[in-house]
Amino acid sequence: MPEGPEIRRAADRLEKAILHQRLLSVHFAFERLKRFEAPLAASTVSRIETRGKAMLTHFDCGLAVYSHNQLYGRWHTSKPGQTPRTSRSLRFAVHGSRADILLYSASDIDVLDADQIDRHPFLSKLGPDALNADLNATELVHRLGEARFRRRRLAALLLDQGFVAGLGNYLRSEILHAAALAPTRSAASLCETERQALAHACLDITRRSYRHAGITNDLALARTLKSAGSSFEKRRFAVFGRDSLPCYQCHAPILKAEMARRIYWCPDCQR
Ligand SMILES: [Zn+2]
Repeated sequence: MPEGPEIRRAADRLEKAILHQRLLSVHFAFERLKRFEAPLAASTVSRIETRGKAMLTHFDCGLAVYSHNQLYGRWHTSKPGQTPRTSRSLRFAVHGSRADILLYSASDIDVLDADQIDRHPFLSKLGPDALNADLNATELVHRLGEARFRRRRLAALLLDQGFVAGLGNYLRSEILHAAALAPTRSAASLCETERQALAHACLDITRRSYRHAGITNDLALARTLKSAGSSFEKRRFAVFGRDSLPCYQCHAPILKAEMARRIYWCPDCQR
């Protein structure tokens, strides 16, 4: 499943295609949303907000289209009328005068006003978004100490969208490696230095992935690996997907285990 950085980059592409543009029509596949097609088409898209893995396409009229891609949803942009050839079913489309944005296969779609966004069962439970520039390490250190989070194993806590929104499976492994913490540790077991390291890694690794198109590995190392002919998938991660390969820092073989989902870590660097 795409994680926060991939969703935000998709939102950037959609914004570039459709923002503030005169609209020709809006389409929903679901009968319950058809009544919103005309009012949204008479408006324009003012902003595409991401909250973790959810997206809010805000229109000037005050309504927003909520979408969550889950495993299957895919966004496309295209020139007006040039619908991509795909066997996927179109669920939501905004047809602009210069571009179309099209959401395929997603089923979790709704139209919400500001109050409904505040009360939304999924959105209202989300923790702060790792890509929100206002979120800082101090706030995350504070959250690590909260009763609802402190007993949890870090491997589980980092997948909990109520703790920090936008983290997913590859980010979990990469953040714990950057923080030099074993996935079996609990938040309560961390000393102040370790809490700081984890909070900074949550923010730094997620933001690095967003800015560098999915690279969470040390950037200088990733550049060296690229020069040596390494493929994108082989150079992008420090530990994720690298089971049995040597750690770039200490050369110990990377371990893999199932903790809700597959997780990777270095037994020497991560204590
Ligand atoms: Zn190591």
